[in-house]
Amino acid sequence: MRQRFSPDHYVTGILAGDRLLLSRAITLVESRRPDDQALAQQVLDAILPKTGQSVRIGITGVPGVGKSTFIEAFGTYLTTLGHRLAVLTVDPTSQRSGGSLLGDKTRMETLSMHPAAYIRPSPAGDSLGGVAHRTRESMLLCEAAGFDVILVETVGVGQSETVVHGMVDFFLLLMLAGAGDELQGMKRGIMELADALVITKADGDNQAPANRARVEYQNALHLFPPTDTGWFPPVLMCSALTSVGITGVWQTIQQQQQLTIQNGYRNRRRQHQQLAWFRSLLRQKIEGRFYDQPGIRDQLASIETQVQNGILLPAPAVDRLLNPLSDF
Ligand code: GDP
Repeated sequence: MRQRFSPDHYVTGILAGDRLLLSRAITLVESRRPDDQALAQQVLDAILPKTGQSVRIGITGVPGVGKSTFIEAFGTYLTTLGHRLAVLTVDPTSQRSGGSLLGDKTRMETLSMHPAAYIRPSPAGDSLGGVAHRTRESMLLCEAAGFDVILVETVGVGQSETVVHGMVDFFLLLMLAGAGDELQGMKRGIMELADALVITKADGDNQAPANRARVEYQNALHLFPPTDTGWFPPVLMCSALTSVGITGVWQTIQQQQQLTIQNGYRNRRRQHQQLAWFRSLLRQKIEGRFYDQPGIRDQLASIETQVQNGILLPAPAVDRLLNPLSDF
């Protein structure tokens, strides 16, 4: 049996930076049990005034680009500057046994041992929306526990990059030098979301190709329409092995933060994200409530067969399913 504490106990512990209570509170956030959920909401409500003070950074890139090695080097550098850093992941594949694209807890070994760093793997969830919701709540708990830099890592699966972009102040896209056109084409939509691109593994023989890639990507970014943020995404290079360029990434993030805090864009971005979070959760709950009704799945199966066979058109089929729900 898991030990249960009062909401106050969690809140006091989290605000004092107690990592064990932080972890347990995140476990409550991730739980599907209604009593855990109710407790989690009480804790979140109480800590809300102590949130929002961190720099929220999203990191994405294809498997093998060097995300975990980068986070290890970048995170360790931040701790030397006196920052406290939490690393969260959004990995919608993680609930499938052994199918996690971001691996398990053994990644970022040095950082995970550091007293100023906290690493939490992706929550299991039945949908990307569910995983994203839990990660956002965990981010608030980490902020209340005094972590002033939050990294949210994801890999390009489905819409996971868009979802992470929707919860951070700065979105970093890690890229490999010499990746084929096919890959670059695939990443175009994601490139438009990025606040900076970083060419990884710029060391040894890879330095010249990395530099060529930097110029190419910088030219490609110039073709995108300008945004209303006042920020133009730069293309940087770094090596997590030699640590060259790691400082530059942090300086870039700080410059963008300074600019967007001053011109009001960061605040607008967060307001927009909060509203989008609410709307997405509302959609999820309405959908969940609909499918949870007794007998609905059988009724749905029969109506779907009729639609499939052309006996019933989609619009009346939807009406037939929704109309009995007077409380909807
Ligand atoms: P992830 O899948 O994106 O998390 O990538 P990893 O961080 O696991 O790195 C994939 C591989 O690239 C590993 O074999 C790393 O050792 C290697 N790697 C990561 N960063 C660097 C780097 O800066 N330089 C070099 N030469 N190799 C790196």
